[in-house]
Amino acid sequence: METAEIRRRWLQFFESKGHTVVPSAPLIYDDPNLLFVNAGMVPFKPYFLGQQTPTFTRATSVQKCVRTGDIEEVGKTSRHGTFFQMNGNFSFGDYFKEDAVKFAWELLTTDQSAGGYGLDADRLWPTVYETDDEAFEIWKNVVGVDEKRITRRDANDNYWSMGVPGPGGPCSEIFFDRGAEYGTEGGPAVDEDRYMEIWNLVFMQYELSQVRSKADFDVAGELPKRNIDTGMGLERMASLLQGVDNLYEIDEVYPVLDMAAEMTGKRYGAHSGQSSASSHPDDVHLRVVADHVRSSLMLIGDGVTPGNEGRGYVLRRMLRRAVRAMRLLGYADPALPHLFPISMERMSQSYPELKTDFARISQIAYAEEEAFRRTLVQGTTILDTAVNKAKQATSSEGSGAAPVLSGEKAFSLHDTYGFPIDLTLEMAAEQGVSVDEQGFRRLMTEQRERAKADAKAKKTGHGDVAVWTQLREQGATEFLAYQGLEAEATVR
Ligand code: ATP
Ligand code: MG
Ligand code: MG
Ligand code: MG
Repeated sequence: METAEIRRRWLQFFESKGHTVVPSAPLIYDDPNLLFVNAGMVPFKPYFLGQQTPTFTRATSVQKCVRTGDIEEVGKTSRHGTFFQMNGNFSFGDYFKEDAVKFAWELLTTDQSAGGYGLDADRLWPTVYETDDEAFEIWKNVVGVDEKRITRRDANDNYWSMGVPGPGGPCSEIFFDRGAEYGTEGGPAVDEDRYMEIWNLVFMQYELSQVRSKADFDVAGELPKRNIDTGMGLERMASLLQGVDNLYEIDEVYPVLDMAAEMTGKRYGAHSGQSSASSHPDDVHLRVVADHVRSSLMLIGDGVTPGNEGRGYVLRRMLRRAVRAMRLLGYADPALPHLFPISMERMSQSYPELKTDFARISQIAYAEEEAFRRTLVQGTTILDTAVNKAKQATSSEGSGAAPVLSGEKAFSLHDTYGFPIDLTLEMAAEQGVSVDEQGFRRLMTEQRERAKADAKAKKTGHGDVAVWTQLREQGATEFLAYQGLEAEATVR
């Protein structure tokens, strides 16, 4: 079943249950605590917090999400993308636990010929919060799941809050058993690769007065209105319904991976067994390319541009990681012009604006690749020399200590050559050299403080823009230009 069809069925199902269909919010949302929207509930927060009253009591959406924190997982696990779509259904003081569970079960297990996803009920493993007997009873007696497949888990896995005083409550997650070839038997507490989490149901029912950590909080009492917030990973469902190993192989992602394989002459999966995701570096790189190209496309589509701070830095990092993965696969020519159009073609089926806006989007991406290519040429030579020196220094000491690249060197690579620190770390590590990251961070902080003071001193009516313009007029190199932008961003 195509991803677009899974999405369509979702919306149709919840609409038939009285939910209002709400379009996805952009990835950048007006929330100072968030770099990007990272869950379906984010646009509904004011309703959950009682700050605004919606015109509906039930809603459903397919929300674009980016989780920067999952970047290191990409390509290594079978189920983490930096960009993904979260299908959600929400109740604002309307239905609660029993209906939320029944809806989920119905959609998951109804035959495909009757509009559902047709998953085998015996392979679904729900979890509940350790003391949530109510949810346990619903799964066991109302739905009829064998209690051997219902796991109780503690607050680290099955309790939701916003990390601050406010609403909170237990969760119930639904896992799908992918089968013996994916790992050890025994349920999600034993193996989260074999048992893949597909859907999280959050039962918002308490007012928390204190939240010290995920598993350490005080409950002040019941909420006056109880809410439901759920999230199902669209790509994860697609991987199951398309019978593929992982979410980089689904219809919305795989064509980019396939093109990258063709360009680099690599055969994806050449090193894997029959079923389980291969951790061979070539395969991981190909997945990284496919994931990052799509995420970058979606981010630029929603107005992010590459930069050295915050959101812009995340985008820059993803574009550069994609380009670098292509280089590691042996492809040194400009790669993005071959990959972006393919991702756009796939994604514009659900997001047609990507097609109409593609000239702008692609231009931003390709310019960043060009900038990175210039950076690489200069930076790599300097880094290699520095790495060799660090190695020589330790071997002549003869102390057997591991070689370390100084914070100063890493800083000058960043500052003068625009070589991102994560790249320095990665490339040094590949040669068995570590980096004094603390020293680097200290120098970065010092530089920021200087930039701030400098901008203040120069702030004579033209504000921070003046600093930037001045730098540019001095014929600043590309990297000085980055610095200017950074100063601009910090004084704002
Ligand atoms: P995991 O434990 O696998 O990292 P999670 O518990 O962090 O997932 P939730 O915050 O509960 O995920 O999000 C709801 C649903 O969104 C998950 O059940 C999953 O299906 C999907 N999801 C979460 N993170 C990702 C991701 N990085 N890529 C794809 N889907 C995701
Ligand atoms: Mg997670
Ligand atoms: Mg989880
Ligand atoms: Mg979860």
